[in-house]
Amino acid sequence: MRYISANIVVPVTDNFIKRGVVAIDESGVVVGLYKDDDLAVQNVEIEFYEGVLIPGFVNAHCHIELSHMLGKTVRGEGLPKFLAQVMKFRETSQDTILSEIELADQKMFSNGIQAVGDHVNTRLSADVKSRSPIYYHTFVEVMAMRKEDIQTRIDLARDNEFYFDSDHTSITPHAPYSCSKDLFKAFRNAIQEDNILSIHNQESEEENKLFRYRTGEFLDFYDEMGFDASAFKAQARNSIQSYLPHLPKSNKVILVHDTYTSLKDLDFINRQGQDVFYCICPKANLYIEGKLPKLLNFIPDQARMLVGTDSLASNDSLDVLSELKVLLANFDHLDFLQVLRWATINGAEALGFADTIGSIEVGKKPGLVLLEGMNNLRLTERVSLRRIV
Ligand SMILES: [Zn+2]
Repeated sequence: MRYISANIVVPVTDNFIKRGVVAIDESGVVVGLYKDDDLAVQNVEIEFYEGVLIPGFVNAHCHIELSHMLGKTVRGEGLPKFLAQVMKFRETSQDTILSEIELADQKMFSNGIQAVGDHVNTRLSADVKSRSPIYYHTFVEVMAMRKEDIQTRIDLARDNEFYFDSDHTSITPHAPYSCSKDLFKAFRNAIQEDNILSIHNQESEEENKLFRYRTGEFLDFYDEMGFDASAFKAQARNSIQSYLPHLPKSNKVILVHDTYTSLKDLDFINRQGQDVFYCICPKANLYIEGKLPKLLNFIPDQARMLVGTDSLASNDSLDVLSELKVLLANFDHLDFLQVLRWATINGAEALGFADTIGSIEVGKKPGLVLLEGMNNLRLTERVSLRRIV
């Protein structure tokens, strides 16, 4: 048994405790959470740390199989050009891809990350994930713009799904600009109720332009890549309003990015009655589009907010703490305890890991992370992180 304490312990699902003590057994399961004057911790040996003790993070959006693409794309060119670069430059030797996946997994663990929602197109990350201390939910992406490709692509995704943890893998449409209306409809018949969806949503204003008016840079991108864009018709409304009604109502959906999601879109989503989470990837948004989502619009949905890193193709690190720093530096109305929920318990809920991780509670195995250099629970640039458990 270990008794671990710090200046402040933040369980996340309950109020923080000054000099709280967390008792864990040898497997890392929390067996007690105490105030420092509790009789249960008077005659035990306590490991005390200067700092703030929190549960491990949940990185709700990543593509670990793109980890070899660090520094391979040009910053600030907008989403369509970024996608073209990823498609052109992602090929490399399998050994390189595998070793970068392995490194990224280790780095995420030492960055205090306990669970990841990870998108894949291949089975290359399966072996690392099966050995990792990190919990993964793998989203196998499907994309198809031509009717004749839909069934083959769904079948291929099903084949890849088979290589990952069967309790924590689902197939998902990749994005509105890479999936036709017919593909979204085909998903309704192809999936069970427990199949979580995770869709790149409104990452660029160009996506809204494509759906509203059938204009913009996505058409140039399709031309350049030789894609048949005839599936897209002008809809006179934003992308989310066009595709969401085609998805099954009972499935959980994570909408990733939401950089150009308007108040009207949010109102539309709420009226659909769907179980929706919003995953914000601030550093990737700044890297690709130079813009952050309008987070004030999302204030009523506090329990629905998640944080992701996206991939090393559009980020310099897979580090949730640095994403939170960017959020707090850019939005005065947010505070640390608020965004900590987004990056822990909310992510655990969305990915189906909330029984095990996401908060310091008896019976959970959340991992313990120490934040050093905090002053009055303010997350400034100088705060650093150390994994304790
Ligand atoms: Zn992504």
